[in-house]
This record gives sequence, structure tokens and C-alpha cells, in this order.
Amino acid sequence: MARLTLDNVTKSFADFDAVRDVSIDVGDGEFLAVLGPSGCGKTTLLRLIAGFEKVTSGEIRIGNEVMSGKGGSVAPEKRRVGIVFQNYALWPHMTVAENIGYSLKVAKLDKAAARRKVEDALALVNLQGLGERRPANLSGGQRQRVALARCLVAAPSLVLFDEPLANLDVHLRASMEDEFAAFHKRTGTTIVYITHDQAEAMALADRIAVMDHGRLAQLATPRQLYREPANEMVSSFISQGILLPADVLSAEEGGHCKVRVLGTELVVRCRTGERPRAGARICCRSADVQVVPDGPGLDGHVKRVIYQGGSARIEFTPSAGPDLTLHFEQPDPVMLESGTQARLRIRSGWLIPAARAA
Ligand code: ATP
Repeated sequence: MARLTLDNVTKSFADFDAVRDVSIDVGDGEFLAVLGPSGCGKTTLLRLIAGFEKVTSGEIRIGNEVMSGKGGSVAPEKRRVGIVFQNYALWPHMTVAENIGYSLKVAKLDKAAARRKVEDALALVNLQGLGERRPANLSGGQRQRVALARCLVAAPSLVLFDEPLANLDVHLRASMEDEFAAFHKRTGTTIVYITHDQAEAMALADRIAVMDHGRLAQLATPRQLYREPANEMVSSFISQGILLPADVLSAEEGGHCKVRVLGTELVVRCRTGERPRAGARICCRSADVQVVPDGPGLDGHVKRVIYQGGSARIEFTPSAGPDLTLHFEQPDPVMLESGTQARLRIRSGWLIPAARAA
């Protein structure tokens, strides 16, 4: 097991920074998800950690050993980093056991010892008894478990997962998620898990690194990301936060601020050290707001109500916010009709911190 440290890592291709000034410290035994939209630099980050790319500047360390930095780069096969790819990358002509034991054979390990290690790895991923099958005769989930066992047999200090569930159907994804979680608990391996799927990252990770255009947008626990997004990108990317324009009027006691939102004063949660400023935004989650036919609240117009079973998706335009359409979910029964006037009640929110100078 090992700790992984990325210090101000930048990777440029010609004059384009695919990864820009990223610093992350992954604790020994931690499960870190790297999450972000397509093209944000996730795969490049994984390739840098694995050693398939060299850093342009900054440093990567595993334990206390520098893997990539000013002094050069340690070859991928010397890093003791295991990788589980989304396409499994299994040899079709080898049996499951041969696939798993391949690296041991290359390392010329004694045959009996290698067989024992393969058996142990099969047991660890719940595939006992399937060692003689060929990959073609396995389900997608079983193939992914073989890939996991193959990576574990080499006793890596760190395991990288590259969108491992992307090729599996929805039901299998959920059960593999459970397996990965159980596997992590059982082995205590340090894991870096690349995904663009927010639900997957939230379900599995201790902390999530959200990437945006090559930069680290926020590194936090799933709960913090949801409750206290560091910027608008994180607020929108994580569960589609509802963003409202706000002016900060004053800081209150206990991590709260008084703000004016669309002409109404509210108290919302905020970071300490906030000062009065204009042009801010607050992030609300669906559970923080409610649209009601009448009574107190912000005046507005229900553009659309889309029923989706136990809840409804509502599009609401506040009268005081021209060109602003808010989207959120509300549990059924929803007593609203498309095209009617209604009121928006905001129970709580989070003040998006001011952007720091680059
Ligand atoms: P996806 O989820 O679509 O795989 P990603 O978040 O993994 O995306 P990367 O593959 O890391 O993103 O790519 C980040 C950016 O760097 C992209 O704009 C990509 O075009 C660029 N890029 C990646 N590799 C190279 C390369 N070898 N040469 C030039 N540009 C590259």
C-alpha cells in the first residue's frame, strides 16, 4: 500500500495544457475518484501516474519515491502500479488462470507459488473455480473481475481504475460497484478511480477530485462537494445545482451570510471570511427549494412540469430574474400546472466562494 502525491503537476502537449498545476495527496488506503466531463484531463492524469507520460513540470511520488519530476521518470513496469482498464484487455487465447498468472510467469516465479497466488487472487474477486475458462465464456462483470485479479496478483502498491464500468449494463454496474467497494474494504488498497459518472464516484470514493479543463476544480468528500461546491462548475456538474444571482450583504455568525437574491433577503451557508460583494451566486439543491401555487416566496411562472413517477421536474422562471430558468425536482404530489403563476420558497443555500486569482 502507498501514499500517492501529485505536486503542482502540469502536462502540456505542444502549447496546450491537458493537466494544469494539479496537486493531490492520496492517503495510504484511500479511495480517490477523479471525476469530470470529457476532455478535462482525467485520462492524462492516469497516464502520468502510471508512467505512460512524463510530467512537463511538477512531481509525482509514490510513498517517498519520486516517480516523475525534474530528475526523470521511473518506467511504468517499475512503479508497482496496477491498472484496470474499461475494455479489460484480457488475452483471448489464454485461460482465466493464465491471464491472471501471466506477470508471475514473466517474473519466473516458482510454478506452485504462482498457482497459489492465482488461486488467492481468484478468491479475492469471487471467481473460484473459473480458472480454466476462456474470457470469451465469461460475462462482462466476470471479465472485469479477472482484470482486477490480474492486476492484484502483482501486489501493486496502488491500483488505477480507468472507467472500469463504462462497458457494462446498468444492473451489472450497480453490482460491480458493490464488488469494488467490498474489494477496497477487504484489501485496503490505495485506489485512484477515473470516471465521468458522478453517482459512481459518490458511491465509491472517500474523496473526489473534480477536474475542469485540466485544473483541479475541487478535492473534497462527496458530501462536501454536494453541500459546499467550490465554484459554479462543481455546483452544476454535481447533481445540477440550482444557481441564483446574489449580492452578499453581511457575514453572520457560524458560517452564515446574509444575501439578497432576486430582491429578497436570505441567510445562507458560506465559507468563513466572506465580505459584502455584488455579483455572487448561491447554489441550492432541489431539497432546498419548493415551488408552491401561492403564499410567501419569490413570484414567478411555471414553464413546464414533467412528471417522472415519484417526482416531477419543474422549470420555473422568477419574475425578478429575466432570462433565468431554474430546473429542479420536486417529490409528488406536485400541485402545479404548466403555464401558471407560482411562488418559489428557498429554505437554504450555499454561497459560492469568490474565485481566487489564478
Ligand atoms: P474522456 O473522458 O473523453 O476520455 P479525459 O477527461 O480523459 O476525456 P484526456 O484524454 O486526458 O481527457 O484529454 C484532455 C485534453 O488533452 C483533451 O483536450 C485532449 O484532446 C488532449 N490530449 C490528450 N492527449 C493528447 C496528446 N497525446 N496530444 C495532444 N493532446 C492530447
